Amino acid sequence: MNVIVAEKCGFCPGVRNAITLAYETLSKEKIVYSLGPIIHNQDVVNELSEKGLKTVDSMDQIPSGTVLIRSHGATKQQLNQIREKGLRIVDATCVLVKRVQKIGQQLHEEGYKVVIIGDENHPEVQAVVGYAEDVAVIGQVADLCKLSGHKKLGVICQTTQSPDHFAGMVAEIIRRGFSELKVVNTLCRETINRQEAAVKLCKQVDVMFVLGGLHSANTRKLAELCRKHNNATFHLQNWEELDTKVLAGRQTAGVTAGASTPDSVIERFVRHLQAYESSQNSKSSR
Ligand code: SF4
Repeated sequence: MNVIVAEKCGFCPGVRNAITLAYETLSKEKIVYSLGPIIHNQDVVNELSEKGLKTVDSMDQIPSGTVLIRSHGATKQQLNQIREKGLRIVDATCVLVKRVQKIGQQLHEEGYKVVIIGDENHPEVQAVVGYAEDVAVIGQVADLCKLSGHKKLGVICQTTQSPDHFAGMVAEIIRRGFSELKVVNTLCRETINRQEAAVKLCKQVDVMFVLGGLHSANTRKLAELCRKHNNATFHLQNWEELDTKVLAGRQTAGVTAGASTPDSVIERFVRHLQAYESSQNSKSSR
């Protein structure tokens, strides 16, 4: 079996920066708090936890010390609480996420009803919501009812959505006839590059593997896109999760990975896949 890795996959600059900042901070301080997992990869979270990074769900669990803001950012309310408690902030919010927050705020100041196309449960979206009053989060067409009664809409998008989804939702909004729309493209180019590379690759292979955390939005989106073009697409966290029966009769495998998947996970998966294939060949040639 031939194994091909997508031209663009794995850690994005925002995630790489957050991990570097976490290690740098932990080299100077014994305990550092992270509001939510720093990335959707348990191995990395465990490794940083051994060095002193404490992952907490709420501000109430942070008595003192330093708080690392992950690449998804933090809500305005959380940032205010951090300041009120006199905690030190190490801000690893991705610059592209900061841009979405800033644009949301500007659109609100310009008098637009701010609309974000994205998942209301995603921390990046929850953080953006606090930067303007009364933001409407649109996850699916049914949510568009939230926009009735408004005339001027300022539309932005969660960074990791696909261009097709963003464009489709904007088209649905236009169909409903608002008098003024201002659409700002806030998609992340890194994400688009990964999605395009994954779609290109999955069309050329017999089986496609998408590696990354099951809760990682961008990994799930990669798997969803690949599944549209290749039914034999599997979203796995690592090699251990692979049922090798799915390799039977396949000649070429493609591998891609979400923005929070470490290189080591990708390399190990590819190595095992190649070794498995060699061992099957050597058995059949005996
Ligand atoms: S996926 Fe894009 S927006 Fe999100 S952290 Fe990475 S570089 Fe930043």
